[in-house]
Amino acid sequence: MENRESLLKIENLNVYFKTENGRIQAVKDVSFEIGKGELVALVGESGCGKSITSLSVMGLTPKNCQVEAKSISLGGRELTAMKPDELRKLRGKEMAMIFQEPLTSLNPLFTIGYQLTETIRIHNQISKKEARDRAVELLKKVEIPRPESILKEYPNALSGGMRQRVMIAIAMANNPTLLIADEPTTALDVTIQAQILRLMRQLMKEYSASILFITHDLGVVAEIADRVIVMYAGQIVEQADVFSLFHRPLHPYTQGLMNSTIKINQSDEVLDTINGVVPNLSSMPEGCRFHPRCPYAREDCRKTMPELSAVLGNRYVRCLHWEELGGDQNG
Ligand code: SF4
Repeated sequence: MENRESLLKIENLNVYFKTENGRIQAVKDVSFEIGKGELVALVGESGCGKSITSLSVMGLTPKNCQVEAKSISLGGRELTAMKPDELRKLRGKEMAMIFQEPLTSLNPLFTIGYQLTETIRIHNQISKKEARDRAVELLKKVEIPRPESILKEYPNALSGGMRQRVMIAIAMANNPTLLIADEPTTALDVTIQAQILRLMRQLMKEYSASILFITHDLGVVAEIADRVIVMYAGQIVEQADVFSLFHRPLHPYTQGLMNSTIKINQSDEVLDTINGVVPNLSSMPEGCRFHPRCPYAREDCRKTMPELSAVLGNRYVRCLHWEELGGDQNG
């Protein structure tokens, strides 16, 4: 986050689920910042805690969830001290979220026009006509053809790519400073995915917004991110600017993710996969949480939990042996 003013700052976030068998921890001591106008990708396999981290910021965690944090601040305002009502006002205005499947957020019973204009009018004292004009303008911004007629359509009448564009329009309707996008392109085919990614970057610049982009796909990260945070088993294991991360991934888990990603012109190569599976939240391994899957694990890795350490200037890594492992894949 070099030389950028901070927008979102999370300090020591811990998230627990209450279950029949007691409290289990899904996110452990996560801290990071997003600068103004910065796009940060939060990466990891499913179940690593990336989505629940973002839902904690939005105040949208499920009922059986307990969120504890030293601080979560947006533009200097402390979100953990806000009442549910204040937080609700902030959502949709200061911060907005889009999901993988727009139909989970769009109501199939209402037209696109109704849903878009309502979002605008909740936060702005303007007439229906003004809200409709703004809705048309927003649909144009997300490059939807024939916006006037799309306003009369129901979500089910649109393709997946069009629905995601509508969701982006709704999310941007009130010029949020922070947009959280949870796997927004995963369900789309590659061409549409590329269009949506380009559109998001374009809108981010135009609206001077910051984006927290959640994904398991490193190809998407390379395409869109300024900075990358890699999560594993509820913890941050590596953090770096996108160029440094791809040039020299330091953590064995990040290296494993890279080796299992198809690279351009190398699609005929056999891809490596990371051995084993993500550990169960209720029975995390002792020591380094990655040790049962790590090809470099040693005796001390089984006993000592590595700290997330600042290394090589602006990078962070959670590994006892990162220096010896080198991590230099590209020379
Ligand atoms: Fe692998 Fe040990 Fe580093 Fe964990 S601490 S990532 S087990 S080398």
